[in-house]
This record gives sequence, C-alpha cells and structure tokens, in this order.
Amino acid sequence: MMLNRRNLLKSAIAATFASGASFGFANHAYASNKKVVIVGGGIGGATAAKYIQKYDSAADITIIEKNPDYYTCFMSNEVIGGNRSMESIHFTYEKLKARGIKVVFDTVSDIDAKGQSVKTASGKAFAYDRCIVSPGVQLKYEAIPGYSKEASKSIPHAWKAGPQTELLRKQLVDMKDGGTVVMIAPPNPFRCPPGPYERVSQIAAYLQEHKPNSKIVILDPKDKFSKQGLFMDGWKRYYGYGTEQSMISWIPAKDGGKVTKIDAASKTVTYGDGKTLKADVLNIIPPQQAGSIAIKAGLADDKGWCPVDQKTFESTLHKNIYVIGDASIAGPLPKSGYAANSEAKICAVAVVTSLNNQPMIEPSWVNTCYSVIKPGDGITSGDGISVAMVYAYKDGKIVKVDGSGGLTGAFDAELRKREVLYAHSWFKNITVDTFG
Ligand SMILES: Cc1cc2nc3c(=O)[nH]c(=O)nc-3n(C[C@H](O)[C@H](O)[C@H](O)COP(=O)(O)OP(=O)(O)OC[C@H]3O[C@@H](n4cnc5c(N)ncnc54)[C@H](O)[C@@H]3O)c2cc1C
Repeated sequence: MMLNRRNLLKSAIAATFASGASFGFANHAYASNKKVVIVGGGIGGATAAKYIQKYDSAADITIIEKNPDYYTCFMSNEVIGGNRSMESIHFTYEKLKARGIKVVFDTVSDIDAKGQSVKTASGKAFAYDRCIVSPGVQLKYEAIPGYSKEASKSIPHAWKAGPQTELLRKQLVDMKDGGTVVMIAPPNPFRCPPGPYERVSQIAAYLQEHKPNSKIVILDPKDKFSKQGLFMDGWKRYYGYGTEQSMISWIPAKDGGKVTKIDAASKTVTYGDGKTLKADVLNIIPPQQAGSIAIKAGLADDKGWCPVDQKTFESTLHKNIYVIGDASIAGPLPKSGYAANSEAKICAVAVVTSLNNQPMIEPSWVNTCYSVIKPGDGITSGDGISVAMVYAYKDGKIVKVDGSGGLTGAFDAELRKREVLYAHSWFKNITVDTFG
C-alpha cells in the first residue's frame, strides 16, 4: 500500500512537471485532516493552494488574503502607459473556491509558530499542520525622507497594482505637455528587477505620442540594472536616448542619482550633492523588504528577507512554515511573479510529500521576465525583450543551469514583435495557472 501511494504521488508530480500546467492524472487523496493555511493569496499563495489541492485532494487548504480583488503587477506598466485596461489585470478567487480551496478575506495579524496557528485581525484563529507564507513585499516608505504611506496617496509608488496603478496613470494623463516625470528607482533587492525600466519605456511611448515635449528623469541609487544594455538600446532607437533631445535621462548612483529627501507638497526631489528637481509627476518606488507579517512572525533575517531551505522553501527559522515568492531569499531566482509561481509548485510538492511522509523530489525552477520597450500588438508593431533561465538544486543551493537561458539578442524587428506576443501569451498562461 505504502509503495503504491509513493509511486502514485511520484508519478503525479512527474506528470505535472512534464506537462507544465496541464495534468494527466486524477486527483488522489493521500492525507486526511491535513490542514494547510496559506498567508497571502497573490501569485505564490494562490499557485501553492491550487497545486497542493491537485497533488493531494484530501488536504484541507485555506488561503487567508486581505483583498477579494487581486490585480497583477505584471502588465500593470501597460495600464500606466495606456495600453491595457485595469479589468484585464483583475483576478478573483472564485475558481480556486470551486476547486474546494477555502478562501477567507481577512488580514493575518500573527503566526504562532509553536502553537501552529494563524491569527487574523478579525479575531479568528486557524490551526495548521503546514503554513505557507507568501505576503509579497513591504514598501519602506520612510527610507526616503519626506515620503510616507500617506504621501503615496498623491505621489504613487504603483509597486502594488490596484488604485496606485490608476493614480499614476491619471497623473500622466493630466500632466501638461512639456512636463517632467521623475522616477525614484529602488535599491537592490526589490520586486521585479526590470520593472522600473519597463515602466519608463511605457511612459515614454505614451508621452511621445501625446505630450512629446515632456521628459522623464530616473534617479537611481544603483549603477546598473537588469537588461540595461537592451533597455538603453531600445531607448536610443525610440526615444533619442544619449542625445540632447533624449526624452529619458538616467542618473545612476555614481553621478549623484541617490535621493536624500523629497518635499511631498511641491514634488521637489533633492539628490546627489544637494541638487533639486521639481517633478510634475513623481513616481517613488521605495526600498523593500519581506511583507510585514513575515517580519512580525519572526521569519525574516536582519536584512528583512526570509531565509529558507533552498530545496523545500521551509523556513530555516520556524519548522512547518514555508516562505515563497518575493519575501523569501531564493537568489539566484529573481523576485518575480514567474519565480513565485515556480517556487509555489516546488513548495506544494514539499508540503504534500512531508504531510505524507514521502521523500522530496529533486527540484528545478524556471523564470522568464518579459519587458515591453515599445508597446504594440506583437504582430504589426511592438518591441519586447526577455531574460530566461532554468534553475536546479545543487550542494544545498539554487543554481543557474548553464546554457539553459539567456537574453534577447541583437535587434531584429520581427523577433522583437514576437517577444511582445510571447509576453502577452505568458500573461494569459500564468494567470490561468495561478487563479484558474
Ligand atoms: C510594475 C511591476 C511589474 C512586474 N512585472 C512582472 C513580470 O513581467 N513578470 C514577472 O514574473 N513578475 C513581475 N512582477 C513581479 C511580481 O508581481 C511579483 O514578483 C509577484 O507578485 C510576487 O508574488 P508574491 O506571492 O510574493 O506576492 P504578491 O503577488 O504581492 O501576493 C502577496 C499577497 O499577500 C497578501 N497579504 C500580504 N500580507 C497579508 C496579511 N497580513 N494577511 C493577508 N494577506 C496578506 C497581499 O494582499 C497579496 O495579495 C512585476 C512587479 C511590478 C511591481
């Protein structure tokens, strides 16, 4: 019996990975009364719930999520650029509920690791055998003197999609032609390394068409950024980057790009050795750390991120709690939605195998980050780029698999249009895989 169950579980998991998101096996019930509580129903949490349910239909799975409506951060830059609707990045939990996953809309206020219980703001307690924590990131507003959560009501970060996305879009639409958009980029590590620079590309495309006398200034506390060569090449091609007429200026740390304070009322930024810049639209992407509940639960290190066993994503600080997604320390995997989805599937295997006293598989992960430099339909227009990689587990660590991925190559108009199509197709697939 034991052997059969083991083989069934192994073949179920193997089938999952062989077939990507589609399953060639029936739901199998291996455990009874195994309570899994998932904190945060974003990309990591929702994917983990769905895949645990697929691997072990007897698991009792509860997602506790703050908001009934989830807006993906990915493709939110297209909303900001005016090329996509808010509704197209909006997802709910109805399909997960239909799969038998319980979804509770509440804020997790504490996790009692010893007592194996999750507490919520409304006073409820949820006992667990295994807990998965995927709360995303917390924005460190005050790390930029003058900025605050309150100030973000008029100076958007738009680094969590939803009303913030709409606010930034509205400010761009309301801005006069000839205005200055200032983006304050975050230091490493942060959610979506190419995200700020894709956003600049999308904003530049919008301004070029509607407000061509406007400028975008990026103040960066770093000296380099993800896919930099490809972005800059695109900015040269479309927005005059590197010339006097460039719509985009990038000021890295070495040239004084680090911001020392802002005046929220006048949207004036002080940077470098005391220079000032007044913005018409100011977009501040603050430094980040693991979502606050992970820190409160004692799951984070002194830098604010959560150390995990690299094979299973179980916290190295608290047994039976797993941390996935942006909050975890999983480098070289980036803090991306694709990585969170991939980590969630491995974590689902780890949780199900541990609940059923089965051995853990040898894991592998995958990630691709697409960025659209010039919007388009992907058939007649558009310019997209990507970075892709497969990861394996070796000597206790997650490592890149040599030769498995890479960057978009030199400019080829047809291939670049196709990358936009791939980006949009990836979006459809990952959102069905996560919430469908
Ligand atoms: C502009 C932008 C563009 C991006 N583009 C891409 C891209 O093209 N490709 C890509 O792969 N990734 C992209 N990303 C990154 C991606 O969105 C994140 O990496 C991904 O969402 C991480 O998943 P997560 O589960 O860790 O966090 P999230 O998806 O943020 O989910 C966390 C969830 O936890 C909930 N939560 C937090 N605390 C609590 C609590 N105490 N109680 C209850 N619920 C709680 C939150 O409400 C949220 O729903 C982008 C990000 C940004 C900002």
